[in-house]
Amino acid sequence: MPYAYDDQNIFARILRGEIPNDTVLETEHSLAFNDIEPQAPVHVLVIPRGPYVCYDHFAQEASDAEILDFTRAIGEVCRMKGVAEGGFRMIANAGEAGVQEVPHLHVHILAGRPLGRMLQ
Ligand code: C5P
Repeated sequence: MPYAYDDQNIFARILRGEIPNDTVLETEHSLAFNDIEPQAPVHVLVIPRGPYVCYDHFAQEASDAEILDFTRAIGEVCRMKGVAEGGFRMIANAGEAGVQEVPHLHVHILAGRPLGRMLQ
């Protein structure tokens, strides 16, 4: 099933500069910013600039350059925040079952407190 991208979603509006964000990193194909409701001392969202609803959409349709840039941006944010070695958690919620609220792919990077076991 093809994915329909809603260009009025809040991250699309952030990417167009219509809504402010607390930027951590800007790259050619990605943007990282601090989550507005942080769940941990470090809570950064990394998003591709392209119009991808979720990870599966991105994996199917993004260019190699976009995928490389996004992957490297996540690593760069972890190093910038000083959590690359100490540890962090990456989460990408997808769709209804994954309780994805914003329909633009985003990876949460969480760190800075004991995060507990997530998978039981
Ligand atoms: O994975 P999910 O879609 O549920 O997460 C959306 C995230 O986007 C939330 O953590 C929310 O706090 C964040 N958000 C934000 N800035 C906004 C709107 C939502 O950081 N303007």
